[in-house]
Amino acid sequence: VVVVFGSVNVDATSYVREFPRPGETVHSSGFRVALGGKGANQAVAAHLSGARVELIARVGDDANADVPMRTFAAFGLATDGVAAVPGEPTGVAQITVNGAGENTIVVTAGANAAFGAEVVEAERERIARGDVVLTQGELPTATIEALSVAADAAGARFVLNLAPPVPVAVGSIALADPLVLNVHEARVVGLGVGLDDDARPDAWRDAAASAVGALARSVVVTLGARGAVAADRTGSWTVPAPDVRAVDTTGAGDAATGTLAAMLAEGRPLPEAVRLAVAAGALAVLRQGTVDSYAARDAVLGLAER
Ligand code: ADP
Repeated sequence: VVVVFGSVNVDATSYVREFPRPGETVHSSGFRVALGGKGANQAVAAHLSGARVELIARVGDDANADVPMRTFAAFGLATDGVAAVPGEPTGVAQITVNGAGENTIVVTAGANAAFGAEVVEAERERIARGDVVLTQGELPTATIEALSVAADAAGARFVLNLAPPVPVAVGSIALADPLVLNVHEARVVGLGVGLDDDARPDAWRDAAASAVGALARSVVVTLGARGAVAADRTGSWTVPAPDVRAVDTTGAGDAATGTLAAMLAEGRPLPEAVRLAVAAGALAVLRQGTVDSYAARDAVLGLAER
């Protein structure tokens, strides 16, 4: 079982020629409402990858909560762990994309900010020995810290995607197995500090290897079109991404992380799980959208075998 303690958002995207200036009103050429939030995205990815997923999340007691609830139902994801917080809005990301493809984003954490450490206490009986417990940087840091301890105490595997890279206690990061980061997040936590974006993947692999035991139990760094690197106490690996034509990379990292958790929950070794995660990430860039662009298990396994 993959138990996801995570954020849920409604992503509301407007497409404009130019961003409005203060006081100005502009008309959009299109509008899209879709499920967002790293927790929600990763839970959908783990579910599509074949894992049994329990999503523990908080929405608001407003009409916007219908968007995530309906999307979870459409994917067949159980929602008994998704509760409404009285008086809070559902988390929202108001995204504006201009003609040059640039974006501005206003995030209202809403119910996600009300996801306190007491939820971990209340839901801890859902975590069993051998489970994968997955979370991200979009919950309060005290909640992430409580979860790391609860997962460890239950004999579960704690997978921490520190995105965004919020200041979580080093003792909690130390329990991560793996700690999953992109290159920007990696630098914030002091991994690969001297490396620039186009540094050789093997240099990132060595940086990940040197962080094992020191920073976290194991480490995965995703490198966009160049795949990912991974390291644990048994070794370190460079995993190239399949060569694909990227249409929209939104949510690719979440596809990779959710699939990684699913494959670890199946008992696959880290390098194999990362290979499948990289395949899932590559498949997620082929189409527009976030969870709508995620591939099913068979496609992920098929691409990874090639
Ligand atoms: P994030 O979206 O969190 O910044 P990355 O950009 O590192 O994360 O991408 C995560 C994963 O998505 C990569 O490891 C890779 O598997 C896949 N991916 C992203 N961009 C591409 C691309 N252009 N071609 C192929 N795979 C990609």
